[in-house]
Amino acid sequence: MPVRTPLRPPLKPIARPAGIERRIAPVIISATGKRTIRELDARGKRVFLRVDFNVPLSDGHVVDDSRIRAAVPTIEALLKAGASVVMASHLGRPDGRVVDGLRLRPAAERLSQVLKINVPTTGDALGVGTEDAVRRMRPGELLLLENVRFHAGEEKNDPAFAARLASYGDVFVNDAFGTAHRAHASVVGVAGFLPSYVGLLMEREVEALSDLLDKPARPFAAIVGGGKVSGKVAVLEALVRKVDLLILGGGVANTFLVASGRTVGKSLYESKMVDDARRILRLAQERGVTVLLPTDGVVAKEVTRGTEFKVVSTDKLPASWHMVDLGPNSNAAIRDALIPVKTILWNGPLGVFEIPTFAVATRELAKVASEKALTGATVVVGGGDSIAALRQLGVADQMTHLSTGGGASLEFLEGRDMPGLAVIPTAGSPVETLPIVWRTPEPVKKPKAVKKPKPVVPATAAPEPDVTTKP
Ligand code: ADP
Ligand code: MG
Repeated sequence: MPVRTPLRPPLKPIARPAGIERRIAPVIISATGKRTIRELDARGKRVFLRVDFNVPLSDGHVVDDSRIRAAVPTIEALLKAGASVVMASHLGRPDGRVVDGLRLRPAAERLSQVLKINVPTTGDALGVGTEDAVRRMRPGELLLLENVRFHAGEEKNDPAFAARLASYGDVFVNDAFGTAHRAHASVVGVAGFLPSYVGLLMEREVEALSDLLDKPARPFAAIVGGGKVSGKVAVLEALVRKVDLLILGGGVANTFLVASGRTVGKSLYESKMVDDARRILRLAQERGVTVLLPTDGVVAKEVTRGTEFKVVSTDKLPASWHMVDLGPNSNAAIRDALIPVKTILWNGPLGVFEIPTFAVATRELAKVASEKALTGATVVVGGGDSIAALRQLGVADQMTHLSTGGGASLEFLEGRDMPGLAVIPTAGSPVETLPIVWRTPEPVKKPKAVKKPKPVVPATAAPEPDVTTKP
């Protein structure tokens, strides 16, 4: 159960007290229904901004900066409004320990290049040096704290850790849509201590995905590919209840092929998921949803570059080969099926796109999707690998919306509550109202032994001098 937290952090704010505004902010209704930074007068304030800089790195360099660039509108809006901005993010899964390869400096360097201003980082999210750096900040300046997951308190949503982070800001802005499904200290805990807002990226993501679920222009098609069904069962089940057409590709399709009575040779598929796939197929049939399964595929001797490959029907997949891409008939069927479609949601590449020979179906779909978007259809693409594929093909910017959320986008589409959104007050709430915090109460401590009461002052004691009668 959500519980209300104390209104103040147990620690002293390090600069000036966290100013809780007296002003009642104007009501600006946003699609999120949440208080956004449009309601925030950020001038002179220190903003604690949660961003999602959980980006892929290689040799200490950012491989895909989509998430960094997606955070820029909020950062710029806050700086322009005259705030100083202390940013926090996680990167990877260091599990509460310092892992040098998961430091945030490369993200700060990339952000510096994008914004053309210096973005210093701290060596640790906590500590005297960090507190000093925060205290020295002036309006218009940025600082990126070191990976918050180097502290175990982050994932545990430890109130003391959250309070330390909250002490860096006068207000809290959460723009980390990709982490909004996690009840962690820098996402949820901090909101218990500071007036809280969502940023522009969070607003945009929620708006785009809610529109898709609540009022899609029809026909509405979902295209689901990628490696495994296991992470996608829940979203597939939710989508079958929303869409008119379900197109399956990648490893995901293999499990569905098995569920519909085919054998898939050495192809990636999950035997434990076959029953779930059957259930989803049955649900689709009950609801009159068309399901498009591949009728042909590219099979390869090995899942490597330069290997032998051929196109075969999915009714006769050879026992010792791997299906690694869709075949030409399937690609043509997808293109045809999408002609009348007005809304597309795409998650997961249709083949092993990392190997160019097996990126044909993904490339063709990317082309169709960008044509659809250019002719007025809504095309939303989610998933790190899917977006990476679109970037590789140079069509990413033509889509209506690229969801940066990864797992969070999927959970949102499943219709699950997002703790990071739940803790932000609704639009128009008086700023004094602190949000409800998503936190399990701490275990009740053993009550201390009751001390003997002190003896009362003896009646014979001299009376205190009365200050008001002093000469
Ligand atoms: P996203 O990150 O867009 O959500 P996923 O992580 O679900 O996508 O899946 C991407 C991975 O799926 C890629 O690494 C790709 O190689 C793999 N994949 C796609 N099709 C197949 C297939 N037929 N066999 C094995 N792996 C596949
Ligand atoms: Mg992925």
